[in-house]
Amino acid sequence: MKILGDYHTHTIFSSGFRKKGTHATGTIEDNANVALKKGLTTLAISEHGPGHYLYGVRKENIPLMKEEIKRLNEYYVPRGLTILLGVEANLVGLDGELDVDDEFIKYLDVLLMGYHYGAMPKSAKDGLGLYLYNPISKAFKINQEKVVEMNTKAYLKAMDNYKIDIITHPGSKAKINIAEVAKKAKKVGTALEISAKHSELSVKSLNLLKGIDVDYYINSDAHKPEDVGNIEKGILKAREAKVPFDRIRNMIAEGE
Ligand SMILES: [Zn+2]
Ligand SMILES: [Zn+2]
Repeated sequence: MKILGDYHTHTIFSSGFRKKGTHATGTIEDNANVALKKGLTTLAISEHGPGHYLYGVRKENIPLMKEEIKRLNEYYVPRGLTILLGVEANLVGLDGELDVDDEFIKYLDVLLMGYHYGAMPKSAKDGLGLYLYNPISKAFKINQEKVVEMNTKAYLKAMDNYKIDIITHPGSKAKINIAEVAKKAKKVGTALEISAKHSELSVKSLNLLKGIDVDYYINSDAHKPEDVGNIEKGILKAREAKVPFDRIRNMIAEGE
């Protein structure tokens, strides 16, 4: 199996209101150079959504990034690599609201969605639900079932509200009913990520999804250029869980 594309990488634009490079270290060009060297044909730049104070991309940078990618693609596309503009939007509402609007989404080639502590909830109720119950229930192991149900509903609604291409590290940070999320994802054409960086999807979770036929991406979630395309840990999980390789959208059988 060979990796074709890495659809989840961060650059210096994932720095919230702090100095660029505080959270992830490479420029778009740095990531692209590594991707080209490793023989990838697609690279998505997917910064954290703008609702994350410490890590999020600043909205005003999105048009600038789009321009930069267009300019870089003039060099990279003839050499076999296409750079895409994406975002790893944050789930900020119990009703499935994300921290990106239509104005933002229109710049994107690919929309990823993930749950992260520290994104700004859209209201106090959502904050209590998504951002307080999750860490608390994790720490004290209370209310697990209620929290899982609440999280799962929010994920399902997000897939109704937006055309999400990939759900990143599903089940890491916020516990969800992974089979329910996978069934919905299959129905609406959303893929689930097997992360090389985060524990989820784990082999155990992947085993729960047998027979659902949902698609996957194995991504690096690189926060430094040298990690772009490093998805070996994800491949090992997919192999162990015997995920059919034709369900993995960013990989191809060698020699094809
Ligand atoms: Zn993430
Ligand atoms: Zn990420």
